[in-house]
Amino acid sequence: MAKSPEVKLAVFGSAGVGKSALVVRFLTKRFIWEYDPTLESTYRHQANIDDETVAMEILDTAGQEDVLQKEGHMRWADGFVLVYDITDRGSFEDVTPLKGFLDEVKRPKHIPLVLLGNKADLEHARQVSTGEGERLAAEMACAFYECSACSDQVGTGGGVAEAFYELCREVRRRRAVQ
Ligand code: GDP
Ligand code: MG
Repeated sequence: MAKSPEVKLAVFGSAGVGKSALVVRFLTKRFIWEYDPTLESTYRHQANIDDETVAMEILDTAGQEDVLQKEGHMRWADGFVLVYDITDRGSFEDVTPLKGFLDEVKRPKHIPLVLLGNKADLEHARQVSTGEGERLAAEMACAFYECSACSDQVGTGGGVAEAFYELCREVRRRRAVQ
């Protein structure tokens, strides 16, 4: 069998946006309520995406790294999930500087990226509209999803998994043109 391509993905975003919950949701289809927020983990996962087996390594960042560690994580990864919490405007405002730092680290490369507005199950507490998320994604030229680590039934179709799969596709497209 052909060797599966390796894709290294990193999940970035402010503390408490649900990075760990999303990664666990993607890997196990379950929601686990509490994680140690200081924990940084990597996971291995294989998935069949468009008839190709893709081997992923996923880094769930803790969000407490110093600049050098953050830069190291950014250099390591091929693709990025930038997460904010739709009920926390501050976490949305953190995305642009994060993307700015990422651009500096990866320059001059194009960066495979998806923007993910999490906690879409908490519609009553929403502080960031879907339109704002869409506009930011358009500025960053990336795909946009709203989803929830609690349920695949809310948000953009396909749930969390679709966002990770689309990111893998984007990494693959970029490799094809480089
Ligand atoms: P991290 O710091 O970004 O890794 O965030 P965590 O994954 O530790 O989640 C922070 C808090 O938000 C925890 O209490 C989670 O249970 C909660 N949480 C994460 N994702 C969701 C979600 O989609 N919906 C809701 N309602 N709560 C969530
Ligand atoms: Mg975490």
